[in-house]
Amino acid sequence: MAIRIISNRKLVVLGASLLSATTIVMFGIHAAETQQPLSSGQHEARTLDNASVPGGVPEQATHTKLAENPKSSQEAGSPTTPDVPPADGRTAESHPEAAAQQGKQAPVKATKQVALTFDDGPDTKYTPQVLDILKQYEAKATFFVVGRQVVNYPDVLKRIHDEGHSIGNHSWNHANLTKLSSAQIQKEIKSTDEAIEKIIGASTPMVRAPYGAITASTRRSLTSAGRQIVDWTVDTKDWSGTASGDMVELVRKRTKNGGIILMHSFGGKNGKLDNTMEALPLMIEALKQDGYAFVTVPELQAQKE
Ligand SMILES: [Zn+2]
Repeated sequence: MAIRIISNRKLVVLGASLLSATTIVMFGIHAAETQQPLSSGQHEARTLDNASVPGGVPEQATHTKLAENPKSSQEAGSPTTPDVPPADGRTAESHPEAAAQQGKQAPVKATKQVALTFDDGPDTKYTPQVLDILKQYEAKATFFVVGRQVVNYPDVLKRIHDEGHSIGNHSWNHANLTKLSSAQIQKEIKSTDEAIEKIIGASTPMVRAPYGAITASTRRSLTSAGRQIVDWTVDTKDWSGTASGDMVELVRKRTKNGGIILMHSFGGKNGKLDNTMEALPLMIEALKQDGYAFVTVPELQAQKE
């Protein structure tokens, strides 16, 4: 089937198969979104994909669990096993400390790719800051947008698109899809599609479920409709107010070639994402030193096909 993918300043018509959708599903099927609701103080149930995590691993333990089994996840291996040689291809030459010893940080050739992703926007406070930082570093990213935010801030959505970033669907109302009927899910997704298309002239096949809450049957119904469900491999937990230094350290430890990093451009604890804004340039600089190029999710997937 032919579906349109929004990519660097152009629309690309690709033949997308269920195989490619499955690739994305497999890519992060174990991940469980831990972001907090858009309105601070509101607590919603967080749901695991029980089909993919038999026995229902507690959500907070999910990433640790994955890290214990290097074969189960791309982010496995580093945090709990510091004596294992880095699998991310870092070399003494590319290591910033080594470069610092030589008195300067030499530019590192990018040999790996990573996708920065920002959920819950657009807004007029943080999303423009994220865009400014990305522009400064000539980095591309992917924004999973909420329909109700899109209609409120169409100019910011347009800017995301105009500056070469990709856009994905994050439902209309930041809904927990597992609590909705099939018809309600379609409405959440379709209305957001239409809002996006009205502003930038194209919709997107990419969907990220709010809270990472998705059942096997919801996955099936979305992927069979040509949707690509995009999870992540590294959760910064930026919404919770994690210190910027901790985020940078975590990202540097867990990011592997082809990784997808989860952050937010709206929401956060008490509506604050200041730590994300502080961490982002540091994160980009650190990952650059580790040999990463910053690409959109469709670009990442294109590399894998
Ligand atoms: Zn979200």
